[in-house]
Amino acid sequence: MAYDSNNIFAKILRGEIPCKEVYRDDYVLAFHDIAPNAPQHILVIPKGPFSSLADFISQASEAEQLGFWRAVNNIAAQQNISSAFRLITNNGETAGQSVHHFHVHLLAGKPMGGLLP
Ligand code: AMP
Repeated sequence: MAYDSNNIFAKILRGEIPCKEVYRDDYVLAFHDIAPNAPQHILVIPKGPFSSLADFISQASEAEQLGFWRAVNNIAAQQNISSAFRLITNNGETAGQSVHHFHVHLLAGKPMGGLLP
């Protein structure tokens, strides 16, 4: 899918709408999900214009990819959830992706149970 720069996360990155920021570096922005599914539910997004995981892996530089995944791990440590967290990414609308700027959901703070509800 072609990247649409009017998606809500692009607007957050440009500072056009607010977010509850938890982390920012050269590669990522992380903020609290507006409708949390766990006591800690953080979204981590790359700063570059990638519509999905598949797009990110095929189009982002190695520095952007390494920077992204390192940041995810750093955020877990910073939030004191390194011992137990779940990462989810929905790749495509059928899989549940509603915002077409690549992101991972970082969830923690309760027993997660099975993979799907
Ligand atoms: P997905 O359905 O995997 O694309 O995830 C999109 C997530 O973005 C959902 O969990 C929404 O609750 C969340 N979301 C949508 N708008 C905002 C916003 N303005 N600030 C924070 N989270 C948002």
